[in-house]
Order: sequence, then structure tokens, then C-alpha cells
Amino acid sequence: MCGPHQSHNLGHNLGPNHHLVQPGQLLLPGFVDMHVHAPQYRFTGTATDTPLMQWLEDYTFPCEAAMQDPSTARDVYTKAVARLLKHGTTTAMYFGTIHSVANEMLVDVVRGLGQRALVGKVGGGLKNGHQKRCSAHTMSMMREGV
Ligand SMILES: [Zn+2]
Repeated sequence: MCGPHQSHNLGHNLGPNHHLVQPGQLLLPGFVDMHVHAPQYRFTGTATDTPLMQWLEDYTFPCEAAMQDPSTARDVYTKAVARLLKHGTTTAMYFGTIHSVANEMLVDVVRGLGQRALVGKVGGGLKNGHQKRCSAHTMSMMREGV
């Protein structure tokens, strides 16, 4: 129930876990973001100055490679998930990296901060046989049930 004429009586019956929406306030459902590259959080809102392939080489691949360090992954993923939650994103589909430990860490961060999410592996790169290694790694992860 909402409305100024009804709110006078509701305030007395609310428990500690309820919030009365005041005039001028809005009550919105949580946002759902279905495309979040979590490792790219470091350059959110920047790095749009180059063509795609150069952008991948200059920004994306180095950030994704850095996620092989668990402390870096935890730091970046904690900041990314906390920021999304702070701005109202209660559900997200995250794209991680090829690193299983980092992807599992992202799941732990999501659970710890109370967000609903899907977390998947992402393996990029077109050089030096990366696609073949990525496919083999994906098959390995599927066998492991990751
Ligand atoms: Zn994408």
C-alpha cells in the first residue's frame, strides 16, 4: 500500500526490517545486468579510444591475464561486485577469465556480498594457438564440473 493518506497508519505497525517509502521516494526492483566482464572492471568507463582488436590487446587481455593472481582477482572482483550492488544491480551474468581459481573466487565474492549471479569462463585471444588451448581447457573444466 502506498499513498500519503494511507501512510499515517502504516508507520506504527512496521517492524525493524521494513522501510516506509516517503513522498518523493521511489521503490524499484533490483537491476539485472546480463553482460559484465568482471576482469574489465579496472577500466570501466575508459579506454574507448582504440579500435576493437587494439583495445583487446592493450586493455582487455592484460587485465584478464592478471586474474591468474588470486589476490588480484579477489581485489578486482570484490570492487566490481560491490560497485554493482551499490548501484542497484542485484543480479548479474559475469564473464570471468580462463582461470578456474579466479572464476571460483568471483562466485565466492558474489555469495559473500549477497548478489545473485551466473559466472562463466571467458577465454579470449587469437594468437599463438590460444583458441586450441582455450578449447582444451574448457573441456577440462567441463569434466571437472566447474
Ligand atoms: Zn562481452
